[in-house]
Amino acid sequence: MSVSPVPFDGNPIAPETECFLGETHRLLIGGEWVEGSGELETRDPATGLVLARFQTGGAAEVDRAVKAARAAFEGPWGRMTVAERTALLHKLARVMDANATLLTELDVIDNGMPRFIAGLTTANCVEMIDYYAGAVMRIEGTTIAPPRHIAAETEALTYTLREPVGVAGQIVPWNVPLSTAILKLAPALAAGCTVVMKPSEETPLSALALGGMILEAGIPAGVVNIVNGVGAEAGQALAEHPGVDKISFTGSTATGKRIIQAALGNLKKVSLELGGKSPVVVMPDADLALAVPGVAMATFFLQGQNCMAGTRIFAHAAIHDELMEGVAAFCKVMTLGHGLDPATTQGPMISDGHAAKVMGYIERARADGVTLIAGGEKLDRPGNFIQPTVFTSCDNAMPLMREEIFGPVMAVQKFESEDVEAIAALANDTPYGLSGSVWTRDLSTAHRLVKRIRAGQVSINCHGAVGTNIPFGGYGQSGWGREFGQEGLDAYLETKAVTARL
Ligand code: NAD
Repeated sequence: MSVSPVPFDGNPIAPETECFLGETHRLLIGGEWVEGSGELETRDPATGLVLARFQTGGAAEVDRAVKAARAAFEGPWGRMTVAERTALLHKLARVMDANATLLTELDVIDNGMPRFIAGLTTANCVEMIDYYAGAVMRIEGTTIAPPRHIAAETEALTYTLREPVGVAGQIVPWNVPLSTAILKLAPALAAGCTVVMKPSEETPLSALALGGMILEAGIPAGVVNIVNGVGAEAGQALAEHPGVDKISFTGSTATGKRIIQAALGNLKKVSLELGGKSPVVVMPDADLALAVPGVAMATFFLQGQNCMAGTRIFAHAAIHDELMEGVAAFCKVMTLGHGLDPATTQGPMISDGHAAKVMGYIERARADGVTLIAGGEKLDRPGNFIQPTVFTSCDNAMPLMREEIFGPVMAVQKFESEDVEAIAALANDTPYGLSGSVWTRDLSTAHRLVKRIRAGQVSINCHGAVGTNIPFGGYGQSGWGREFGQEGLDAYLETKAVTARL
């Protein structure tokens, strides 16, 4: 029988988090907290209890925010020296660092992720703002030989200028809320763009806290505007708005396709970070002491609500059984619980609806007789906790192997071949191409396989190796463009070629 939920499962929260939850949560437009036209509530997915109510906007509020962003772009932000812009970004990093507990706890209670993960992502966010603050002064053009028809007549000079794209619309999902907001915001601001951000309606809180920190850091009014709201209203209005020069979207592939349609009106630039179904290839000579936890966490990190999740496991017949025994044992020691509990290693699914979708895949696979070696159940307790689940005897044609489940569900296929072409063909049999990993002690096999796997990020003897300075993005239907690193900054810059007759 289910027990009644208690706030945060009885775990304490910091006074600043409690205080923040009690505030009125409005929209940030033009440097002020303004009233929205609607209201939603957000819940702690580990208990199902309401955390806070927050105000939402639609087309009218998005329009107001875009106008505020345009005014800031043409006004104070556009006129600022690079030294001033750098200093303000570093200041924002310091304010966030000073409020790290609040930011961390908000993502734990709003998203459900374990605290040690949220703590790491908050620290990475601070690092990312400092990284892009440092990049402001390294935005450089080039000098190029002038065109031949001008050079034939006169001495001339040709060079390029890198200029901000303009007003950027940024649409954020719920699975790593603060991190996704910052990895869009930091390069946009560094490039000199202004921003209208639409956080996910499932996890609005850390972006709202960030809004307060942006004001505290002294970033001018209108440079960052935050409009919470539902995707089909606020998100759609932002993607369609003719005053937005670029849209940066992270979310599902289905919504990404709608964003492209919406962006057609003014042909705004589009960056897309979409879904994945990433392959994990374990060769016969893999170091299983490394591969067992590595393969398990490739799937179960962030309870599988992770775009990079390695959920299609290709295990060579020579190590398949030993690997699977190890992974099943690993599942048994995973501790499901509230993210604030230090013992927790796996949190809940974000919502009832999402948990039902994940359980639908599990129930269908069980009904189809796919071999289940771990998990398979939703816990009988408040919140949506699904056991880490492993199906073996899969093949690439099954929905388990083809569709992004976005939950703690691993699908395993055994293979016999040692031919890298054949193995890569298995790994590449997917519309996606976000991430992947290869587990082997043989350097030659590793690099030959990596070269053949069509994905934006492929790791050897580890999985999901993201970093502030490392480009990240998808092949195929996993997206357009790259975030993080220099390429993340380039995504917010235009190139202007200038030629002068001297
Ligand atoms: P989602 O597509 O449902 O929503 C993402 C965001 O888009 C939300 O803010 C939502 O409100 C908004 N949105 C929804 N409909 C919209 C519309 N018609 N117009 C404009 N905006 C709209 O995705 P989600 O469920 O929040 O996130 C999970 C998905 O995100 C998974 O597919 C995951 O793989 C993907 N993801 C990808 C990456 C990556 O870097 N590639 C990172 C994280 C998550």
